[in-house]
Amino acid sequence: MQPSKICATCGTYYSSNASYDVCPICADDRQYLPEGGQRWTTPEELTSRYSVRTNQLRQNVYELEIAPSFAIAQRAFLILSPQGNVLWDCIPLLNEPIVEFIKARGGLRAIAFSHPHYYSNMHDWAATFDCPVYIHRSDEQWIFGKGDRVELWDGTENPLWDGMRLINVGGHFPGSSILHVPSLSEEGAVFCGDTLVISPNKKHIAVMYSYPNRMPLPHGEVQRIKKQVEAIPFDMLFSFMRDLNLTEDVKEIFDRSMERYLQ
Ligand SMILES: [Zn+2]
Ligand SMILES: [Zn+2]
Repeated sequence: MQPSKICATCGTYYSSNASYDVCPICADDRQYLPEGGQRWTTPEELTSRYSVRTNQLRQNVYELEIAPSFAIAQRAFLILSPQGNVLWDCIPLLNEPIVEFIKARGGLRAIAFSHPHYYSNMHDWAATFDCPVYIHRSDEQWIFGKGDRVELWDGTENPLWDGMRLINVGGHFPGSSILHVPSLSEEGAVFCGDTLVISPNKKHIAVMYSYPNRMPLPHGEVQRIKKQVEAIPFDMLFSFMRDLNLTEDVKEIFDRSMERYLQ
């Protein structure tokens, strides 16, 4: 692993000799710089103060998150599948216990991303598990650091194996994507990062340009996303943070939510 500095607000790793005074991800209007300006931390500090919490959500689905919560506090998902496991999104802490945890369950065949806010230390994860990282080409400009395992994909869909597929939905970022896993339920499960965000009351699903800054998407974008997502079969939805899971009336809640934007 290369010496790194970590943005304490979003968890992105940069080479310690990178010339950035501020994190480009957080300087973008979809994120923010904290009161008092840019804050950096180091892998050593992160490793000594934080751990990775794992939680089994389904027989073949684990959520991984940093405890206590750090930066955006997203979770990653380890999805076990007969022809190879997928890590959906990333968390910015890779320590021995989590490496052993994943290796004991068959390692990783690939890492795939919803969007740039969760790239974290993806190059380290990919090197450790000797696997590719699938990122939609539209978000290429947000890839920082060295890593020869990134594989950019184009178009609307990227089929994986065991019927799993990556689908580019856009909205929040042009490359914002979801992962569809058909084997987890009758209609299949969608892992959506924050391409779609389940609200805390579990009765609304948000689509926004920026969630922390409460910046909406253009009307036409919401219409396009509504039409695209409606055509995807799914009855389970897993969003970017702990507890943001929907397993009942998912499509109804999605439709009602999009209608609310369009009224
Ligand atoms: Zn940042
Ligand atoms: Zn985001």
